[in-house]
Amino acid sequence: MSTKGFQTPKSATRLLQDLISIPSVNPDGDPGCASTGEQQIADYIAAFLKKCGAEVDLIPVLPGRPNVIAHFKAARAPHALPITFAPHLDTVSVRGMTIDPFHPKIVAGKIFGRGASDTKGPMASMLWALKSWSEKQKPASRTLPVVFAGLMGEEAGNDGAIHLMKSGFKTDFAIIGEPTDLKIVHAHKGALWFTVETVGKSCHASTPERGKNAILLMTEIIRTLENDFVPFLHAHSHPHLGKPSFNIGTITGGSKVNIVPSQCKIECDIRTIPGCGMNEIEKQLKITLKRFSGVICKISRSPASLDTPLQHPWVQRLKPFTKGITTAPWFCDAAVFSQYKTAAIAIGPGSIQQAHTVDEFIREKEFLRGVQMFERFLLTR
Ligand SMILES: [Zn+2]
Repeated sequence: MSTKGFQTPKSATRLLQDLISIPSVNPDGDPGCASTGEQQIADYIAAFLKKCGAEVDLIPVLPGRPNVIAHFKAARAPHALPITFAPHLDTVSVRGMTIDPFHPKIVAGKIFGRGASDTKGPMASMLWALKSWSEKQKPASRTLPVVFAGLMGEEAGNDGAIHLMKSGFKTDFAIIGEPTDLKIVHAHKGALWFTVETVGKSCHASTPERGKNAILLMTEIIRTLENDFVPFLHAHSHPHLGKPSFNIGTITGGSKVNIVPSQCKIECDIRTIPGCGMNEIEKQLKITLKRFSGVICKISRSPASLDTPLQHPWVQRLKPFTKGITTAPWFCDAAVFSQYKTAAIAIGPGSIQQAHTVDEFIREKEFLRGVQMFERFLLTR
């Protein structure tokens, strides 16, 4: 990897515009454009960080989809665990956007483009802060090692964060870049998605007694979920996040009006809280569905919840530079770090209201306030 020909942008805003103009759309689902994946943006960030004096590696996770990991060493604390800045490299689809996603225009103080808020704004503010910090505090005088981890695949499956933590990566504290209006998100719910499928027996609709109606069986299951399973979830509560939620999002079944249906399927979404995680829920689901025969239950996705204590020393150190502390209804890579017993929070300029929208933007003033926040945090030591 070479930095030959790489021009460091002249300002933080210019850096953000550069990042927006490099497509890094997550290829899962319908990306809405031909150019997907994180390779190009990882190359750009690697060159930027090399120019700041970091040791940089691109770690392949999936073909053309690396993590970018940069180490800023500290001579005065050679054995200390680093703190880590970890925004994600990917964005959601650009399908249906009403603005040009990759030509960042500035209009009335707003920088428009895919990822402006989620999460190239937070990422650019971290990168620019690292640049100024590395210029002001040279490696010989540093007392804190810092890592920048640009993670691929956050928008579908958190593959980049999982890959990093599985590799044995150790950090004292991880700051995940997400648009949180400059507030520390220390707790959020997780999600657990599962499907239930009923298998019946088809026959002619005029003789239903000869078959087994999979839709009717499903109505019984739905009633049981509502009556027995949801009360189990609601018996749990978290002081900041409240109770877990349960939603049946889709139902499909049957093939024709004059056939007894042999198949019916529902998809369910649970927003989990700490203390009522995947294992407990899976166990209870099994108990609830045990009384039915011909039922297949599959858990398909389960990002964990986050619950970093407010008293954590790094949360306390970061707090004075932020706009306060909050929780979030969404989940992010912070939960992956947390699953590996690593303290993590999410923070950044920009707003979740603007994330994933058809005219995504970030206010330039708030973005620059984000740069300042991370810079002051890094320099105040
Ligand atoms: Zn995000």
